[in-house]
Amino acid sequence: MDTLFSHATVVTMNDQMSVLPDAFVGVTDGKISYLSPKAPDEQPAEIIDATGMVLMPGLVNAHTHLPMSILKGFADDYALSEWLTAHIFPREDRMDDRCAKAATLLGIAESLRFGVTSVSDMYMFSGAVAEAVAESGIKANLSRGTTLFDDTDFSFDTYPACQELETTFRQWNHYDNGRIKIEASVHGEYTTTYKLWEALSEFAVNNHTGMHVHLSETKSEHESCKEKYGMTPAQILDCHHVWDARAIAAHCVWLEPEDMTLLAKRGVSAVHCPISNLKLGSGIANVTDMVRAGMNVALGTDSVASNNNLDLFEEMKTCALLAKGKSLDPTTLPASAALMMGTICGARAQGRQNECGQIKLGMDADLILLDFTQPHLIPCHNVISQLVYAASGHDVAMTMVRGKILYAEGKFPTIDLGAVVKELTDYAMPLVFHDAPKQADSQKD
Ligand SMILES: [Zn+2]
Repeated sequence: MDTLFSHATVVTMNDQMSVLPDAFVGVTDGKISYLSPKAPDEQPAEIIDATGMVLMPGLVNAHTHLPMSILKGFADDYALSEWLTAHIFPREDRMDDRCAKAATLLGIAESLRFGVTSVSDMYMFSGAVAEAVAESGIKANLSRGTTLFDDTDFSFDTYPACQELETTFRQWNHYDNGRIKIEASVHGEYTTTYKLWEALSEFAVNNHTGMHVHLSETKSEHESCKEKYGMTPAQILDCHHVWDARAIAAHCVWLEPEDMTLLAKRGVSAVHCPISNLKLGSGIANVTDMVRAGMNVALGTDSVASNNNLDLFEEMKTCALLAKGKSLDPTTLPASAALMMGTICGARAQGRQNECGQIKLGMDADLILLDFTQPHLIPCHNVISQLVYAASGHDVAMTMVRGKILYAEGKFPTIDLGAVVKELTDYAMPLVFHDAPKQADSQKD
């Protein structure tokens, strides 16, 4: 046994949602090898005294754009279309691989700090993002978000973004025994055409990989699609086989009841991003109805530029509160459901439900410890309620992926945070923001 957590309050997230007080969890070769109220006979190589701590599965951020960490706080309080076209796209145009890698490492460090052990990321610069993930030790399903506005001469074999997907897939898919998965991504119905939908779904199905799509995020996007095709985004994408692969549909704010039934039938996972949807004024997704329709619903932060952090604990609390406020029923979406969305539902969305999301013998040791000895977490009548309604990512004391500690006591053993910040300061920030208005100027308008 490599590591033993002793005297932990263990939130297993198993089918019974068992919480084990004063329990012992052992890790061997990156897997959970021991789970008991009693100490093992075997002497472990290392003992972590978890007295006063909660041990739970790491969180899954099922929709994010890590390289956008560099854009955090740059353009707040705009509507989505103006935010994207006037502020975000022009800056993204200046980014390069080197900048994307540094920004991704920053985003990974923030994720680990807040107890996230696996992410589903959609962005460009796929090779640089994969390198950052590989070095850091975090798990990731990575996709090259692909747009296509003019499809006159489109061919998968010549279109640069599709070729980037192909190259990244060959180089990085299944890296480190599946720690990295490379997936296809239709950026959104409104930024693409049917030729891309069909080409990418064919790629995903033929290569047994996933599909990641922004779906019905804003009312205008949803309604324009109905005007254009006479069908909702979920329906028109279905006609072109986009849901044939294991798929993640981010946002789903404006889904209609028929969309939910259809997506449930196709096994599509919705990723609810409540804070980004609120911040961009996009609306409130109807999580309760999606779950009732049989959809798997996970949680995501979306990019840090529309959030403005990667703390999934905030998403869990916000999604529970919004569901109650929307339904005028406080029994809607209880804490246990929010915690499931942040763990096992996320793992399911990533196709990783057999490897993580629960504390179970044989699963990967993707584990986090939270310090429950702080004033705001005392007394603790119900651990699951406390995790959702009172705790935050700042309470995470340790993050482990496959038995390896990636964050503990303010330190990141696999990420040289000082070097990352220097790279951002000396290279990436000047590259992207050299002509940005100074703070004093921007405050004037
Ligand atoms: Zn997004």
